[in-house]
Amino acid sequence: MERTAVVIGGGASGIFCAINLARESENVRVIVLEKSARLLAKVSISGGGRCNVTHDCSDIRDMAEAYPRGKHFVRKAFHTFFSPDTVDWFASRGVKLKTEKDGRMFPVTDSSATIINCLLREADQFKVDIRIQTAVTGLRRRDEKWEIDTERGHVKEKVEADFVCVATGGYPKATQYDWLRETGHSIVPPVPSLFTFNAPDDPITKLMGISAEKAEIRIPAWKIRETGPVLITHWGVSGPAVIRLSAWLARDMHACDYTTTVWINWLPSYTEQSFRETLHGYRNTHGSESVIGKSPFGLANRLWEYLAKKAGVEQETWARLPAAVQNKLASLVTAYPLVIKGKTTFKEEFVTAGGISTSEVNPDTMESRLQPRLYFTGEVLDVDGITGGYNFQHAWTSGMKAARHISLNTVS
Ligand SMILES: Cc1cc2nc3c(=O)[nH]c(=O)nc-3n(C[C@H](O)[C@H](O)[C@H](O)COP(=O)(O)OP(=O)(O)OC[C@H]3O[C@@H](n4cnc5c(N)ncnc54)[C@H](O)[C@@H]3O)c2cc1C
Repeated sequence: MERTAVVIGGGASGIFCAINLARESENVRVIVLEKSARLLAKVSISGGGRCNVTHDCSDIRDMAEAYPRGKHFVRKAFHTFFSPDTVDWFASRGVKLKTEKDGRMFPVTDSSATIINCLLREADQFKVDIRIQTAVTGLRRRDEKWEIDTERGHVKEKVEADFVCVATGGYPKATQYDWLRETGHSIVPPVPSLFTFNAPDDPITKLMGISAEKAEIRIPAWKIRETGPVLITHWGVSGPAVIRLSAWLARDMHACDYTTTVWINWLPSYTEQSFRETLHGYRNTHGSESVIGKSPFGLANRLWEYLAKKAGVEQETWARLPAAVQNKLASLVTAYPLVIKGKTTFKEEFVTAGGISTSEVNPDTMESRLQPRLYFTGEVLDVDGITGGYNFQHAWTSGMKAARHISLNTVS
């Protein structure tokens, strides 16, 4: 007996679910309903057009640590489809991935089109019925079937299915999840994750383009710190350390309307105290040299000069530097207070924190714990990772798990 499985959403997780399901079960008709005119739109623009497909990691526990929300959920899910499986899946279809030194994995072609073509070829080969410009507006159970309301322009239609996989990605507004609430599921309120910090009132933004390769950014009130590259932009600060911090603090920052103070240690191998002592020693050995001029500790010259002037340094040599100014300099280098007012979405990658509560979904199958034969995959779940290929890995894993479980359930 032929069964029908409808996948709602033609993004990474929906298409991955659909093609694996269509390949693994001959007696299932697989339909994808996609509201926009384009499939895999985010894959196309992801990773600056190169698509950061996954992260090079062979330890599930380590990988799970990269998910500010959903860590326990992905840890269970990854057991049967993990990042090495993603690499193999694409390799067996002729798509080789390469690893960059920070662990991010891209197709060797450096083009997201390679990933898209591979996925769409499979969809074609296994005859997935793809219906674009078809938005789903309602979903309910009718006896043993699912009834799905769709809108295609002005045409409203109902589609019937035995299995439904919701792969609609993240929505910025809570009301956009309303049609899913009808299934009885709870929605964790959505907030954005992966953003950069605006500091409109701090003149440090005049140094835009300057970066510190290794800086530490911390917010003592939330007992959190991140170390890594920090880039000064014309609106504030960006760079991997900032973006990672934004992911961990997505909810706290939203709650305070993105207004807080962060402290930057531009030379994190020093504490304020140890840097004071270092400056003291430096003053003894380099007394005749001017403080402003060449940056003595590996900071960009312009950043050093800015910090020194802000501390009150004028044209003095190290020997003539007043102790109070020297101490102020040590403080600004190791604990620079930056007042944050607002955020800017990181253009390379942004995700929604929040969505379908993971407590209501089985991580081994992606099936709803409330409604049999209803599945959730990808970003629609309250799961999100930091940047580096983690969000796509969750999309592939959850898509594959739903496909396998639906396939298992259709063997009759
Ligand atoms: C600019 C950008 C770059 C990114 N780069 C990376 C990266 O390099 N690596 C990485 O790991 N992550 C990256 N991400 C995150 C990653 O793209 C997402 O986490 C991932 O695409 C989620 O997949 P998904 O299938 O769950 O959702 P999506 O890819 O968002 O797909 C959901 C689909 O469902 C459709 N849809 C929504 N509602 C309905 C409805 N009611 N009816 C029908 N269709 C509907 C949408 O139109 C969309 O096509 C990036 C994100 C952005 C925005």
